Amino acid sequence: MAVSDGDHITVMKDMGLVTTVFDERKLSGLRGHLAIGHTRYSTAGSSDWINAQPVFRGVGQAGFVLAHNGNLTNTAALAEAASMLPGLVSSDSDLVAELLGQAFPADDPERTRADHALDLEQALMAILPLVEGAFSFVLMDADRVIGVRDPNGFRPLCLGRLEATDTAPVGWVLASESPALDVIGATFIRELEPGEMVIIDGTEVRSERPFAAERLDPKLCIFEFVYFARPDTTLYGNEVHGARRRMGQLLATQRPVEADMVMGVPDSGVPAAEGYALAAGIPYGQGLVKNRYIGRTFIAPTQAERALGVRRKLNPLRENISGKRVVVVDDSIVRGTTTRAMVTMLRESGATEVHLRISSPPFRWPCFYGIDTPDRSELLAAIKTPDEIAEYLKVDSIEYLTLDHLVEAIDAPGAGFCDACLTGNYPVPVPVTIELADPSPVPAAASDRA
Ligand code: SF4
Repeated sequence: MAVSDGDHITVMKDMGLVTTVFDERKLSGLRGHLAIGHTRYSTAGSSDWINAQPVFRGVGQAGFVLAHNGNLTNTAALAEAASMLPGLVSSDSDLVAELLGQAFPADDPERTRADHALDLEQALMAILPLVEGAFSFVLMDADRVIGVRDPNGFRPLCLGRLEATDTAPVGWVLASESPALDVIGATFIRELEPGEMVIIDGTEVRSERPFAAERLDPKLCIFEFVYFARPDTTLYGNEVHGARRRMGQLLATQRPVEADMVMGVPDSGVPAAEGYALAAGIPYGQGLVKNRYIGRTFIAPTQAERALGVRRKLNPLRENISGKRVVVVDDSIVRGTTTRAMVTMLRESGATEVHLRISSPPFRWPCFYGIDTPDRSELLAAIKTPDEIAEYLKVDSIEYLTLDHLVEAIDAPGAGFCDACLTGNYPVPVPVTIELADPSPVPAAASDRA
């Protein structure tokens, strides 16, 4: 977290969950009327303290701080163009902070506070056009908070308002996901547009457009709808939970199967399972209980931790499962490690048949836009056919939602999406050469756009 009292910026950050890093004593030392915060999910740049955010640079009147959701695709080229020595910056976010710092006017004791007012905004207008990839930034100097969404809008960013009270004026809030506004009593105003920069200055909000018009091409990450976003988040004007239910409903039409119970894999598979059960006319039941104190295994950094993680994370409800033919709905399969362990658990609990239904198309290409995915060689759907996947996972049948059905379920006509991890169509050039011709023998009808 970084807080400004108008004169100084205080940054407090550490490794770990928010609740372990901050306590009442530490929070009481953070005084000010402006703040930004970020829980970093490491992709580019290692998971180290040095890369914890917000990133601070001590330039201008009181310095500035930056937090970044996403992943740049031209980090190396930008560093080279700026003649930076290797090791000067520790991540793509750190690089942007460094470039912004270099774009500030040279220190000059003659410059007044008023002269400094637009330093950060002007540095952003100069540097942002050079930056490529996925980035939703929030920044702060002593007097203002700024939000920026990249020209493709890969990652979400929304604006909310806190109404004035007897003791405080109107307040403005930026957040990746709209539920963050709800918990502090702010009203959702709108999503920032791709390529928009919003400057919150005192009680006012202004918009700027730092990017050339030809770069504007909305490509919101389709996986935000499938897995990443909280279900109560609003994206493209729709609540994610409703989209997930519709994914399940459409999935039920694709490969009907006789079964006794439909169950979802907690948490993100549950809304799709409810939709599936409704459309298929099969009773919905709970088959797995999630330990709420364990994080997402997808994010666990090693294979061993992920395999162990599923047993710690999910526990079967044996009485509900025993003797039943179950349809299990999950949102996606990446490596298959957790799915395989989960299926074994269901069989050990007495399930007589396990039919796996996935509420997204096969995940077959790595993401370079801010989601930590393995190499192609580790993506199950990139190296095996659906029949081989069913055999590997020990399920009686498997079916993936088609891309057409996924887009239909999201129900945002005319909206643009990134679906590169499903199709290999990368909307922004990626920094490595990967085999884009599909080597996996997955039949087109099973996964691809018609
Ligand atoms: S590649 Fe996939 S996960 Fe990455 S931004 Fe695109 S849709 Fe999202």
